[in-house]
Amino acid sequence: MYKISLITGDGIGPELSDSAISVLNTIQEKYGIEFEITKLIAGDKALEQTGKALPDDVVETIKNSDVCLKAPVGESAADVIVVLRRMLDLYANIRPSKSYPHMPALRDDIDMVIVRENTEDLYTGKEFSLGDSAVALRIISEAASKRIAKYAFETAKQRNSMKKVTCVHKSNVMRVTDGLFAKACVEVSKDYPEIKFEEMYVDACAMNLIRQPEKFDVVVTTNLFGDILSDESSQVVGGLGMAPAANLGDSFALFEPVHGAAFDIAGQNIANPSSFLLSIKMMLDWLGAKHNDQKCFEMAKKLESTIFDLVKSGIKTKDIGGDKTTTEFTKQITDNL
Ligand code: ATP
Repeated sequence: MYKISLITGDGIGPELSDSAISVLNTIQEKYGIEFEITKLIAGDKALEQTGKALPDDVVETIKNSDVCLKAPVGESAADVIVVLRRMLDLYANIRPSKSYPHMPALRDDIDMVIVRENTEDLYTGKEFSLGDSAVALRIISEAASKRIAKYAFETAKQRNSMKKVTCVHKSNVMRVTDGLFAKACVEVSKDYPEIKFEEMYVDACAMNLIRQPEKFDVVVTTNLFGDILSDESSQVVGGLGMAPAANLGDSFALFEPVHGAAFDIAGQNIANPSSFLLSIKMMLDWLGAKHNDQKCFEMAKKLESTIFDLVKSGIKTKDIGGDKTTTEFTKQITDNL
């Protein structure tokens, strides 16, 4: 029995959460992997109801679960996800961009992953006003940089691909902070002679993601650059509706879509739940590895191929050129599972 804490989120979050629960229930009924799901309110709704975007009892429940699924939260995202990442030391943010068939995409042959440092950089919230100016502190440590670099090389080693790590930074301008990050990556690269290694400035990377995305395998970068580049790479393969993410620590993990609460389409039953369902796929892989549970690995594969086959057959939501509602698309997935 795996205890899942599920933050239902804001905007399209509750619709995506309903879809996730249907799929998890189907997996439980048909394949015998047992889940105990606890729904949690955090984000804008929690702020409104309790005065805190991340109430203490929510944190307690998450800590007592095996894994956390988080639907997108709204304006208070920084007070929820950024805090949870640091509090639970979820230092690696893994954002795959993989081509699916018949997508309104720039490319249909891409399989890459962005490994984003998740605990430092400009996202630590150390900002203040100074006279008529505003200052933000950018924190980059050698320990965190080496830890994420190691994770990226280990990822490249396991992937069935070109076995290459691209370290993305801007050390020609931010000489001290990105200089340290780049140096840490170079040092770690020496332990992995079988993996190709290159460095790239972030502006060149943004350009190359459009110009020649097939040249990327694993990209390792700092927090803010990773956030921006992963929205871009998801667009290369068809958009945010298909983009999952994992936030991994050494003993706990949180899975969520790359995108935000998408208030513009909330409540219309048109959101693409694939981003969240592919996050469940990543969760199953993680549970499989952690608990040596073959059933979870098999289920992860099955869930991904079910989504793949469905979009290939033209059954899709509006954002990727189809006409199915969130509930219709989810029902097709549970039927096909
Ligand atoms: P954040 O800064 O919190 O990441 P954002 O302002 O970048 O949020 P998102 O909510 O991430 O915006 O999404 C951008 C747009 O992409 C949305 O306005 C919506 O139209 C579209 N979008 C995002 N997710 C989905 C989805 N699951 N299904 C369909 N469309 C989506």
